Amino acid sequence: MNINSVLVIGAGTMGRGIAQWFCQHGVRVELVDQHLEMAQASGDLIHSSWDKLHSKAKFDADEIKAFKKNLRIVDMMEHQIDHDLVIEAIVENLNIKCQVFNRLDEIMKESTIFASNTSSIPITKMAKDLSKTRRENFLGLHFFNPATIMKLVEIIETPWSKKDIAHGLYDWFERYGKKPALCKDSPGFIVNRVARNFYGESFHRLENYDKDQVEEIDRVMKNVGGFRMGPFELMDLIGIDVNYDVTQSVWASYYYEPRFRPHKIQREMVDSGRIGRKVKEGFYRYE
Ligand code: NAD
Repeated sequence: MNINSVLVIGAGTMGRGIAQWFCQHGVRVELVDQHLEMAQASGDLIHSSWDKLHSKAKFDADEIKAFKKNLRIVDMMEHQIDHDLVIEAIVENLNIKCQVFNRLDEIMKESTIFASNTSSIPITKMAKDLSKTRRENFLGLHFFNPATIMKLVEIIETPWSKKDIAHGLYDWFERYGKKPALCKDSPGFIVNRVARNFYGESFHRLENYDKDQVEEIDRVMKNVGGFRMGPFELMDLIGIDVNYDVTQSVWASYYYEPRFRPHKIQREMVDSGRIGRKVKEGFYRYE
């Protein structure tokens, strides 16, 4: 399999990282967002990240020039229709994702691979109303944050996904340094299913918001547990709003099993807009 061009929809935390990673691996990328200014701001961030990487001698001038040439920021209606792959990385909401895929279904060429970067929504639900060919070319591609650095990509197959596409993508990602994992379409896939307890138990331990305890739990999980980040630092990085949506989605998928229930602190943080690094305040403050 060869991936030469990708359309990335949604220019937030994940779309930006995914677009950057593909550009760095010789793939032409068009990045779109419902708000053009959001896509443009993400484009600027990607460019300044490349400039920083160049100043640290991670890439030479020719490489940076090639990466920049690979990235195009476009308007929602303006993008090309003949990409090899389209990756959706918009808000974690089934109906909105389905609207986007229904629109893409009308315009993209038939052989384009459709993929969602959802953290928890069943891929089967997004694919089920599309034509047979589209369903066969549809899977989950779950990148981790930051997508330029994290090696794991979960490749999620539905009952209709063509094996050769899933396996072709597996080999392709491996060739470019990712560590892909094939997994079935179950709530939260692998990592977000297992990680619910990492976050959930930390909230139960915390009970009520207490800054010292937040720091203590993070410190213990890193220094004693061996995790690279503690649960609260990680939620700040992911986005507390995004993590809350994922918790709700996994909870609903398991018929509201109490052990997956979201915690009130999550809702309070979202309601008050303290949703993590992207707004410079979450469990911690960022300058
Ligand atoms: P985000 O809030 O940072 O960005 C979402 C972007 O999508 C925003 O720029 C928004 O304007 C845009 N958008 C929303 N609706 C749109 C539409 N209809 N058309 C075009 N653009 C639209 O979110 P994120 O953290 O990048 O998450 C995106 C997806 O990736 C979610 O499904 C999330 O579950 C998943 N994910 C997130 C993480 C993480 O750590 N944040 C990790 C893996 C997967």
